[in-house]
Amino acid sequence: MGRVYNFSAGPATMPLPVLEEIQAELLDYKGSGMSVMEMSHRSKVFQTIADEAEADLRELMNIPDNYKVLFIQGGATLQFSMIPMNLCKNGVFDYIVTGAWSKKAASEAKKFGKVNVVATSEDKNYSYIPDCSDLPIDDDADYVYICENETIHGTTFQTLPNTKGKILVSDQSSMFLSKPCNVSDYGMIYGGVQKNIGPAGISIVIIREDLIREDLKDANTPVYMRYDTHAANGSMYNTPNCWAIYVCGKVFKYLKSIGGLEKMNEINVEKAKVLYDFLDSSKMFNGTVEKEVRSLMNVPFVTASKELDAEVVAATKAAGFDNLKGHKSVGGLRASIYNAMPIEGVKALVEFLKKYEEENA
Ligand SMILES: *Cc1c(COP(=O)(O)O)cnc(C)c1O
Repeated sequence: MGRVYNFSAGPATMPLPVLEEIQAELLDYKGSGMSVMEMSHRSKVFQTIADEAEADLRELMNIPDNYKVLFIQGGATLQFSMIPMNLCKNGVFDYIVTGAWSKKAASEAKKFGKVNVVATSEDKNYSYIPDCSDLPIDDDADYVYICENETIHGTTFQTLPNTKGKILVSDQSSMFLSKPCNVSDYGMIYGGVQKNIGPAGISIVIIREDLIREDLKDANTPVYMRYDTHAANGSMYNTPNCWAIYVCGKVFKYLKSIGGLEKMNEINVEKAKVLYDFLDSSKMFNGTVEKEVRSLMNVPFVTASKELDAEVVAATKAAGFDNLKGHKSVGGLRASIYNAMPIEGVKALVEFLKKYEEENA
């Protein structure tokens, strides 16, 4: 079988046991005589798939009863608009900008109100997380926004910002389910699923019930853009992305089977250490962000020159390690080592880079 170690930032590698189960169920899902992609979303068999997916996610993340779980199409990007549209009361939004994704989210929010960038690490190409213990939070802020793990730059918030009583909204796209999460610290958590969970095309929104407004009907807000629409209809106001919900559900069951998010975090810490220890000892390859805030999921690193970066990327690809080219805004290489990347893949990559350095130093 020709599977490679796939270090893509997204869509990204999936757990092999999940892919195998999907393959086995492809033509005839549990005696239904059809594939999940062929069945009515109103059927009992699909309703069971959706219900189990939500229940398993609630169990994994320990989601309190006063939070709704929504599966919404449009990826994480649609949420950049839905968040300010739905959470707008005073029309003031505080954003902490720690990379390309929070910057995009902030610029979209400007269409719906006044955006304050209350902290940013833009001055050093987002290679650190600013001190967020005493920010100039606006008294009128409807929410404080973060991208908790910056996929492109490779940083993660180690502690959540002090929002001074305002609700926190977090984009967890590239760290979803990578470690335990105390949901009640947030007003809303969301993420596109194609980084750390399943196939592209949906985002999962976990939102505190009292933040879901029902008065937006009267404000000409498009029906699909309202959280109350999705909440009132069990995420099936229209035809959902059934396939993605099905695959995400499989991944939730898989995570439960290996011991849940505590266990996943242990594995992720051990796995990232293999790569970071190597980068710390290497003369040829250097990490690009402050050590204290390094991401366990996305690991950008560079050599001394663009030419050498490109040579290394080509050499890794030829050796069966794919998608290591860094994002253009950082350059170099980036290894995305999400939940589904086995530690063997990271060890093999490190062995390869070590040897490359020895031979080319
Ligand atoms: C990939 C990514 C997005 C965008 O996701 P789409 O589903 O393509 O819209 C947003 N935020 C973060 C942190 C991401 O990694």
